[in-house]
Amino acid sequence: MASKLIILGSSNAIPTTGSDNTMLSIITENSRVLIDSGINPIVKLDEAGLDINAFDDIIITHFHPDHVSGLPMLLMTMWLTGRKTPITIHGSDHSIDRMEKMMDLFDWDKWPNFFQVNYHRIPHIVSQTILETPEIHISGTPVSHFIPTMGLRMYFKQEDKVVGYSCDTEPCPGVITIGKEAHLLIHEATGPEKGHSSAGQAAETAMRANAKELLLIHYPTGKYQQKDIIEEARQVFTGKISRAVDMQTIQID
Ligand SMILES: [Zn+2]
Repeated sequence: MASKLIILGSSNAIPTTGSDNTMLSIITENSRVLIDSGINPIVKLDEAGLDINAFDDIIITHFHPDHVSGLPMLLMTMWLTGRKTPITIHGSDHSIDRMEKMMDLFDWDKWPNFFQVNYHRIPHIVSQTILETPEIHISGTPVSHFIPTMGLRMYFKQEDKVVGYSCDTEPCPGVITIGKEAHLLIHEATGPEKGHSSAGQAAETAMRANAKELLLIHYPTGKYQQKDIIEEARQVFTGKISRAVDMQTIQID
């Protein structure tokens, strides 16, 4: 089976009808990895036909509500549906410290037979391995947001393809490392405000990283959409540009 990425949500911090907060899932022959957890990962995974209990790894890019607020619901639903197998949550110290506090607030140590939750703390420095399987290598690199935030670089071994994901960031050297020579750079396009990037800045990063293709994500959707972000990016980047939509499948081949 060829690996794939499924866009579970494509919106910026304000979700709108049909466009949830940005979250992704990685599907390979033998693994399922969830990247972030917007407000309703359970329904989105259901819509994508994915079994929530098939996921053994969750990567938190940073601890902002639009990226983590669905995690307690997701873990509770896993428990309610009889999960027995452990899950590993990967993130920086900043994210994991807060994740542990959130678990404490819900008194989850008192819930009967709660499955094991492991925490994997990723050093907040360039190109740190988060997860490696025979099929994929995922590393994290700090990017420039308001709080410690990791962008991700995914190497699909069998397909020999690299996909970068900027996460939330303004233009910075870290995001160029993530997208360097990537087959696809998935880059946020919230806008030009501090801690974020406009579509034009995302395109500039794609060009500087020499990425082949650019997929814009985490952009204003619904009534908040103001401009044609593809047209804006096209002024800068000559490779293929598209805009992520919820439930989009990206085949890695
Ligand atoms: Zn954020």
